[in-house]
Amino acid sequence: MTVQTQTNEMTSAKHIELVDRHAAHNYHPLPVVVAEADGVWVTDVEGKRYMDMLAAYSAVNFGHNHPELIEAARVQLDRVTLTSRAFQNDQLGPFCKELAELCDKDVVLPMNTGAEAVETAIKTARKWGYTKKGVSADKAKIICCSENFHGRTTTIVSFSTDPLCREGFGPFTPGFETVEYGNIDALRNSIDDNTVAFLIEPIQGEAGIIVPPAGYLQQVRDLCTEKNILFIADEIQAGLGRCGATFCVQTENVVPDVLILGKALGGGVMPISAVVSSTEIMSVFTPGVHGSTFGGNPLACAVARKVVEILKTNKYQDNAKQLGEYLFDRLGKIKTDKVKQFRGRGLWVGIEFHESAGVARKYCEQLMQEGMLCKDTHEQVMRLAPPLCITKDELDWALERLEKVLA
Ligand SMILES: *Cc1c(COP(=O)(O)O)cnc(C)c1O
Repeated sequence: MTVQTQTNEMTSAKHIELVDRHAAHNYHPLPVVVAEADGVWVTDVEGKRYMDMLAAYSAVNFGHNHPELIEAARVQLDRVTLTSRAFQNDQLGPFCKELAELCDKDVVLPMNTGAEAVETAIKTARKWGYTKKGVSADKAKIICCSENFHGRTTTIVSFSTDPLCREGFGPFTPGFETVEYGNIDALRNSIDDNTVAFLIEPIQGEAGIIVPPAGYLQQVRDLCTEKNILFIADEIQAGLGRCGATFCVQTENVVPDVLILGKALGGGVMPISAVVSSTEIMSVFTPGVHGSTFGGNPLACAVARKVVEILKTNKYQDNAKQLGEYLFDRLGKIKTDKVKQFRGRGLWVGIEFHESAGVARKYCEQLMQEGMLCKDTHEQVMRLAPPLCITKDELDWALERLEKVLA
């Protein structure tokens, strides 16, 4: 029996029309309808190929259709996919052990999406504050940064400084204060006796690939130790190879108290996120105080175990480091009066355009015509974040097109 799905006969225009009519308008995607993908390449429903320079916001760090990740999922699909945490499954224990080792920590709390892991870290910090630090009930304060991005829940948007993320979603969750990113004095001044944690992206992704001043994260580490507050690093986008190391904080030689992981942890196959920390800190969790139906499901854990195994080879981190250096070198040589700054680390680049050059979206649309998919962030910045399996030849291909559009 052959089953011809209707989807395969539809044009891009028809798909876009359907999404426009029946999907909520909470995104403004480029008008490309992907049907298949492999490595750094995606193919649309008409068969046109594009290079993926976003990698699903770094969730596809190891490339589309990675054979080992797909195989791990396939094998687990035939075994068991969901038990809930009411019972044990044979993937959760090995996953937690292997991920904890990769992080040089003890204990993993698995969730599904990034925002859930951030929420979990917030709960961890608050409960740690009350039970270990001795903060009075309901007084815990968590310090965050200006221009942060940690997800979309009502609590998380409560401490966003982006009006677009907040407007119309109040009332907001109290207990948060924001300080200027990269400013150690602002952090020092904000810390009081009720402060339980500082939550920070080691490089701010959605803000436009903002790299803090050299030495800042080390100062954060020292200050958090001095004041007995938890240093929570949101490595959801910066981590797992993107910056040329397993974790972005390693490029600054700092060790946070709590790591938040997501996106690439599921290899672009399954949503899985995690909070990783010490036995001491994670002991705030006892049966019944927190949970998730799908958290720690065997299908996601099986894929994530393969992700950890792949990361242990350092192959993708090394490629991000080496090709990242090459990329920044080539970008620096581009003759253009449109660009204010190229910045980033590893294979993660923010290209900030001068206001006079127009918005970044315009250049994303031009690059799409050239066969390259990029995403703008905050009007003036275009982000490059290819899958970390990209080769030098593929990067040269991309640079040719970038040079043309930026000229
Ligand atoms: C994407 C992202 C999140 C949210 O992850 P979701 O899976 O979309 O909920 C949180 N923090 C950072 C730094 C991110 O980039």
